[in-house]
Amino acid sequence: MLVAASLTASSRDISARPTSPSPRVVVPRRQRKAPTENGHTAAVNGAHNRFTNLGIHHVSASGVVTGVFRRAFIPSNETDVDEGHDWDIFDINQAAELDLLEGDIDMTSGRNSIIGDSYRWPTTIPYYLEDSLEMNAKGVILKAFDQYRLKTCIDFTPWNGEKNYISVFKGSGPLCWFDTVNHKILSSSIQDLGVSSSALSLLSSYLNERTYRKAVQVLVQVLVISRLDYCNSLLAGNQQEGKQRLSIGNNCDRLGTVEHEFLHALGFWHEQSRADRDDYVNIMWDRIEPGKEHNFKTYDDKVSSALGVPYDYGSVMHYSKTSFNIGSEPTIVTNIPSFMDVIGQRMGFSASDLTKLNRLYNCTESSTFVDSCDFKQENICGMIQEPGNPKWEQSRSVSGGPQHDFTAMGQCKVWKDAAAAPAQAPTAPTAPTAGQCWGAGALAARLPGGQGYFMHFSTASAEPGQQASLESRWLYPKPGAQCLQFFLHNTGAADDVLNIWVREYDKATPSGKLNLFKSISGGVMGSWELHNVDLNVTQKARVVFQAVRGKSPSSGGFSLDDINLSSTKCPQHVWRIRNITRLMATTPAGEKLYSPRFLSPAGYSFQVGAYLNGRSDRQGYMGLYFHLTSGPNDHNLKWPCPWQQATMALMDQHSDIREQMNMHRMVTTDPDKVSSDGTEYYWDDPRKVGSKVTQSDGSFYYRGPGTGTSTFITHSRLRSRQFIKGDDAFFLLSLDDISDLLLPQPLPRSADYAEASAIKAVDQDSPQATASNHMEHPTKDLPSVLISA
Ligand SMILES: [Zn+2]
Repeated sequence: MLVAASLTASSRDISARPTSPSPRVVVPRRQRKAPTENGHTAAVNGAHNRFTNLGIHHVSASGVVTGVFRRAFIPSNETDVDEGHDWDIFDINQAAELDLLEGDIDMTSGRNSIIGDSYRWPTTIPYYLEDSLEMNAKGVILKAFDQYRLKTCIDFTPWNGEKNYISVFKGSGPLCWFDTVNHKILSSSIQDLGVSSSALSLLSSYLNERTYRKAVQVLVQVLVISRLDYCNSLLAGNQQEGKQRLSIGNNCDRLGTVEHEFLHALGFWHEQSRADRDDYVNIMWDRIEPGKEHNFKTYDDKVSSALGVPYDYGSVMHYSKTSFNIGSEPTIVTNIPSFMDVIGQRMGFSASDLTKLNRLYNCTESSTFVDSCDFKQENICGMIQEPGNPKWEQSRSVSGGPQHDFTAMGQCKVWKDAAAAPAQAPTAPTAPTAGQCWGAGALAARLPGGQGYFMHFSTASAEPGQQASLESRWLYPKPGAQCLQFFLHNTGAADDVLNIWVREYDKATPSGKLNLFKSISGGVMGSWELHNVDLNVTQKARVVFQAVRGKSPSSGGFSLDDINLSSTKCPQHVWRIRNITRLMATTPAGEKLYSPRFLSPAGYSFQVGAYLNGRSDRQGYMGLYFHLTSGPNDHNLKWPCPWQQATMALMDQHSDIREQMNMHRMVTTDPDKVSSDGTEYYWDDPRKVGSKVTQSDGSFYYRGPGTGTSTFITHSRLRSRQFIKGDDAFFLLSLDDISDLLLPQPLPRSADYAEASAIKAVDQDSPQATASNHMEHPTKDLPSVLISA
C-alpha cells in the first residue's frame, strides 16, 4: 500500500516524469547507457532517488545450514531491479503519467474477449522484437512464449512478412502496454490525432498512394508514441490488420507481466472489467485517484464474453487491490475477503485464464506439452510392464517408505466456518510452523498423508540383479530437446540403480531402439527428490523407468510420482530449501540465505541469495538476488560477464506442469554496467569485484554483487498454491547465454525495404552496436565515467 501511495506521489512529481523519446543520434551503445547507479533511465532514477533507500544491509552471523551457506556480510552494491517497489503494470504506467484507457491498454472500443472470428489471431502469431528492447526483456518475452506453447495452443513465430504481426518494443518511459495500429482506420485516426485534412491532402498530392500510406503510418506511430495519453482514435481488440505494437518497458520484464500484455493482444480485457464484476468485487470509487475512474469501467456482455468461466480472482488479468488508489486503502474489495491478497497476481496464467484462452482459440493441444502423470488413475496413464516378476506396483504407502505419495502431500482441507472444522484445525493467520497447513480460508488443516498413489519397485523383495521396466505409452514429442521431470523417493541400497531410457521407433527399428539418458543411484535417501532429465527424442518414443536391484541388502526400493514430459529444456539446477517454515520462523529479516554454487553451461559459477523474511526494509516479502561467484573456469571466461541471463523460478509443486504457476525472476549480466561509484565493471570477475566468502571447512570463494529484487514474492503468496510442499521449497535455476539476442531480429526477406526502413525510423531510439562490439570486451574501451573517475 505504501508503494502505491508513493507512486501516486511520483506521478505528480515532475522530476519523475519520463523523458521524451531520445533524439536519434548515433551514439555507441557503451556511451548511450547513462552510467547511473542502476543503469536505468533518468525517469526511473527520479523515482528511485525519491522513494527508495537502498542502504547496506548487514546479515547477522550464523552457521552453515545443510546445503545452504550463510555469511555475515552482503556486498554493499546489491542492486534491486525494482528499486524496492512491488511494481505492478498499473503502478509503472501511472508513475510514467500514462493515462491509458484501462491502465495498460491503449484503445477505445473493445471487448473483454472479443466475440467474432475476425478478431481472432491464427494460433501461430508472428512477432518482431524491436531493437529498442532491453536484452533481459527479450529473454523474458521468449520465456513467456514458452509458457504459451506449454499451456495453450498459441505459438509464436518470428515475423516473416505476414500481414498481421505483433511488434514488441521498449516504450519511451517505464511502461507496459499494448495498442493496435489499424491500417484501415489510419486516415480517420490521424485527423483525430490533430493532423488536419488539408495537410493530409497536401501530403497525398506529393506522394504516390503506397508511399503516402507508409508516411501516414509513420506519422500516426510517431504521434501515438509522443501522445500516449491519447486513446480515442485507436481501435480496440486483438487481431487487427497490420502491425500491432506492444511495449515492454522498464520493470515490465517479468514473465507474468509479459503474459498479461500478450493476453490483451490476444483479445482479453482485465478480469474486473467483466460485465458481472459487481457481483464479485466492490469498486471503492472515492479512493480512486481523480481522473482515473475510467480504468474501472465494465464492458457489456453483448460485446464481451466471459466464455462460460466464473469470475476469477486469481486471473493474471485482474487488477491488484491498490490499483489507482489515492491513499493506502484498496480500490477493489473482494466480496469473498480471503481473495483480497489473491487479486493482482503476476505469477502467470491461472487455470481459468487458460480455460478462457483455450476456449476462445479452440485449443485441443499445446505444442510442447507431452504428458503428465500422478498415478492417481488405475490405468497408470497407460504405462506398461513386460510380463514376469518383479514389477512396479501402484501404491498408497510402503512400510519402508514413503508413507504417502508426493502429489497430495500436505494438501489443505479448508473449512468454510469454524463449526464445520475439527477442533484441532489451526486458526489463521498464525505463525508458520512445520506441518501446518496454509489454507486460503480462515480455517485449514492438512489432510493426512496417503491420499494419492505412486509407483513403487521393491528392491527389498527382488533378487540381486533383477530388474523391472515401467514404460510409458507411445509419446509424440516435438523433435529436439525435451525435459523429463519426476519425483523419486529412494529407500533402497546404495547400489540399486534407476535407469532412464527412451525407446525410439522408426522404420529401421520397428521394435524400438533404446537410448540411456541417466542412471540414478544413491543420492538423498528417504525423501521425495525432484529430478530433471534432459532428453533428445526425434520421433515416436516411450520413456522407460528401469529399476535394477543391486547386490547390497535393501530394506526399501524406488518410488516414482508426478512425472511430466514437455518439449522444453530442463532447468539446469535445483536449489531445495528444506524445512522452510522453520527457517522462516528462525531467520531474522535482513538475513540472506545462499544457495550452493552452480555452474552454467558456459562455465560461469553462480549462486542465489534469498532473504526469507525480507530485507530489513522490506518485510513481508521474500527477496531474491543473483550473484556471480568464483569458479573453476574463471581464467578461460570472458569478463565482464557478457549477456548471461539468470532464470530463478520458485516452483509451484503442482503435479501437472500445465497447472504449475512458478514465480519467475530473470536478470541479465550487462558487461557495460559499472558499479555505483563508477570504478568497476559490475559483472567483472568476482575475484576482482566480489567479496571473499569463507566456508565452514576453511575453503573460500568470491561472490560478486547481487542483482534481483527485494519484492520477489509476498509471504502470503509464498504460502499459497504449492510453493511449499512437505515444508520444502524448490528454486529452479538456469544461467543461459543470450548474446545471440544482441543481433537485431532479421527482417523478413520478402518485406519491402520501404516498410523495413519505416519501421526502423519509428522504432529505434538509437542504433544498437553490432554483436561483435559487445562480445569483445577490450578494457581499454572504458565508458567515459570510468575515465573521468
Ligand atoms: Zn492489462
